Amino acid sequence: QVTAWDSDEAKRNALPLPSGERVGVRGSEPQASVPAIGADHPHPTLSPKGEGFSWGDPMLIDLTGFDGIVVSPGVPLNTHPIASRGREAGVPIIGDIELFAQARASLPDHKVVAITGTNGKSTVTALIHHILQTAGVPTTLGGNIGLPILGQEPLPAGGVYVLELSSFQIDLTHSLAADVSVLTNITPDHLDRYDGFTGYAASKARLFAMQRPGQSAVIATDDEPTRALAVHLSRAVLPPLAMDGLLGAPLGMPPIPAGPTVVAVSAGDVTDQSAWPALQGPHNAQNVAIARAACRLLGIDDAAIEQGLRTYPGLPHRMERIAELAGVLYVNDSKATNATSTAPALGAYPKIHWILGGKRKTDDLDACKPYYGHVVAAYTIGEAAELFERILLESGIYARNLGTLDAAVKAAAQVARPGETVLLSPACASYDQFRDYEARGDAFRAAVAMLGTGA
Ligand code: ADP
Repeated sequence: QVTAWDSDEAKRNALPLPSGERVGVRGSEPQASVPAIGADHPHPTLSPKGEGFSWGDPMLIDLTGFDGIVVSPGVPLNTHPIASRGREAGVPIIGDIELFAQARASLPDHKVVAITGTNGKSTVTALIHHILQTAGVPTTLGGNIGLPILGQEPLPAGGVYVLELSSFQIDLTHSLAADVSVLTNITPDHLDRYDGFTGYAASKARLFAMQRPGQSAVIATDDEPTRALAVHLSRAVLPPLAMDGLLGAPLGMPPIPAGPTVVAVSAGDVTDQSAWPALQGPHNAQNVAIARAACRLLGIDDAAIEQGLRTYPGLPHRMERIAELAGVLYVNDSKATNATSTAPALGAYPKIHWILGGKRKTDDLDACKPYYGHVVAAYTIGEAAELFERILLESGIYARNLGTLDAAVKAAAQVARPGETVLLSPACASYDQFRDYEARGDAFRAAVAMLGTGA
């Protein structure tokens, strides 16, 4: 019997599972009750109405004999009582990726690529997936992007599952052993849910601690924490527990005799990006370096990789060019939810009317500072509007608190001149004013479309 509880976050991240399968898996029938992906039955979404599920309070059920408690990655394990309840009862807290990991034995011969990092996860995931498709390899993407992996049909033999994993998903995963694990970068993010930066970095490191000897780790070593992890892993005989000392937080993993083989890459490996329209900017040099290395490890030849890079269409809401009106370019970078991911967008255009703000994750915009010279004017919105207005004014940038996205778009459009760019790159989460970053990007698109009609 599945038990979940009614929280908005849990509902948003609802897990699709085969009908009648049990998620609170009892010890007497461990593997049988773990769903095989794409089993013959339909995949209803986990909901109060879902067949075979009960929608109740897991704090009240007797956990005796259960092998796992499945929770949504939206549940904060550092504060939610279910985590301590699970610990006390000796029942691991798991997520859909762990269910996938346990079901792998029943899938046709396949490989798994798992991608994590603070920024660039979706781009690298979509890029690897696109290159594999271009090369004719059966592949699908899932995890933190696209359709939930348990709701998908299994791939035929020789297929590659490309999974984007957030730290929260890794925290709920214990046995993935991806054939290729990828780390893009590590900068401060989600610090409200971790024991500081080291706790966050250690969560990412667990992805590699799950791997077996002979498997591969592609790590972009352009920042200090990723370099430290690459060095640690390349001394393969060290057990993952040694990462406690390195990254400062207990991983709780049993020692393994050796880790994955490390392939260190860097943005500097890529010098000429001119042939790849959707992969501009220094951050995409890092993304390309990673995707190339991962695809080579999967046996894709260089010609197919280059063909994939050339034809990669890009993802919506990431430096997405949505319109050019009266010589002014409008760019939707709503996915940039922290200052580090906003910085590359500021670096990519010379004269910017910058719309930023929302639910802030950090109290500063320091990562964006190197590109302040590109900003003609800034328009702040949402909860962070006042603070960011003050920070930017103190840095000598013309900034105005406009409150809402619509007002900011109108104001920017009035002032922007031909050759300049109106950029939504908020450096903040969206949920003070929007459902998610996609709704925010769509609202930007709609506001720009209104400009086009002269409304
Ligand atoms: P994620 O899935 O990790 O949030 P995305 O690929 O969706 O990352 O990109 C989100 C934003 O982060 C992009 O709009 C871009 O500005 C920035 N970004 C993308 N790749 C990188 C990278 N390798 N390093 C730093 N920032 C990046």
